[in-house]
Amino acid sequence: MSDSHDLLVVGGGPAGLATALHAARAGLDTVIAEPRRAPVDKACGEGLMPGAVRALTALGLEIPGHPITGIRYIQGRRQVQAAFRHGPGLGARRTHLHSALHRAVLDAGVPVLPLRVEEVRQDTTGVTLPGTGLRARWLVAADGLHSSVRRTLGLEVKTRGAGSPRYGLRRHYAVPPWSPYVEVHWGAQAEAYITPLGPALIGVALLTARRAPFTTQLESFPELAARLPPEAAVTAVRGAGPLRQRARTRAHGRVLLVGDAAGYIDALTGEGVSLALTGAEALVANVRRGTPSRYDSDWRSATRRHRLLTDLLVRARQQPALAPHIMPTAARLPRLFAAAVNALA
Ligand SMILES: Cc1cc2nc3c(=O)[nH]c(=O)nc-3n(C[C@H](O)[C@H](O)[C@H](O)COP(=O)(O)OP(=O)(O)OC[C@H]3O[C@@H](n4cnc5c(N)ncnc54)[C@H](O)[C@@H]3O)c2cc1C
Repeated sequence: MSDSHDLLVVGGGPAGLATALHAARAGLDTVIAEPRRAPVDKACGEGLMPGAVRALTALGLEIPGHPITGIRYIQGRRQVQAAFRHGPGLGARRTHLHSALHRAVLDAGVPVLPLRVEEVRQDTTGVTLPGTGLRARWLVAADGLHSSVRRTLGLEVKTRGAGSPRYGLRRHYAVPPWSPYVEVHWGAQAEAYITPLGPALIGVALLTARRAPFTTQLESFPELAARLPPEAAVTAVRGAGPLRQRARTRAHGRVLLVGDAAGYIDALTGEGVSLALTGAEALVANVRRGTPSRYDSDWRSATRRHRLLTDLLVRARQQPALAPHIMPTAARLPRLFAAAVNALA
């Protein structure tokens, strides 16, 4: 006999937890499958953009962290910065973000089952997880960048022609933040993304197509390496990638994809959590309205601007003829830079 639910969420990261929270508050009987113990950590730049902060506040969540005033690009002695116009962002440890969402989900009465989903079977009325006794009217694939649900259902799309695969590496340093801005340092082969996280904590995320250890990559940013002595490192290096992932659709019968599982371009513009939260809300709204097939077009229109800007920037970054012009152009056109930052924020 199957234990049948309205919504079965595979993956308890920000996308899955936010989906479950919206669903439970809408009165849907919801369950989450997440094999990792809370709080879950992950390679992330940990800069919550103002849109993410607003979405978390609307969910009634308070996340401890360090306010972020805007974005600053730096290359050598050249700098350009843009303040956020519609409220601050927040530098927040992933573990804090996860704990707040996880607690809210439990408070809403949603069980989080310690389960890694291997196989999904759908029919016209619902989805079953073989061998678990679990069944639901809808399954939400929120299982991240390398979503096994997306792969198993044949929804993965190859990302040929999009440049060399890019990866992210992150580490934390017990160093007081020197700026309330997220700094993006442009190196020849990588970007270093510095996020203030607390009175004496910063996060460093390196984004690159180069395969080399974190410390080797950091050496190509001598001014940063000088501020980040190895003895100040307080976490192990975590990595993720390849970053660019595409899904054929976000609505496949009774399976709906959200967060990184729904498709991801790059961490360069730091909007992954915002998009996960936006997607979660759109998904649940469509399930509630009984219009699940509209979710894919709602997702595409809600994320279009972010996808276009991030794609443009990453493609320019990967073109040898264009890459050297990104920073000089941003510095020459600070209003355009500010408009782009605030369009993303
Ligand atoms: C280097 C780097 C820097 C980034 N910087 C930022 C930033 O500054 N700001 C920002 O907003 N975003 C940033 N992002 C993106 C952000 O981390 C993601 O967009 C966000 O975590 C997506 O959330 P998610 O819930 O979709 O996926 P995840 O956070 O990856 O969660 C997926 C969950 O699914 C679970 N899971 C996986 N497989 C299964 C399975 N088979 N069964 C059950 N559960 C499963 C995993 O254990 C995990 O908990 C960055 C990403 C990288 C790689």
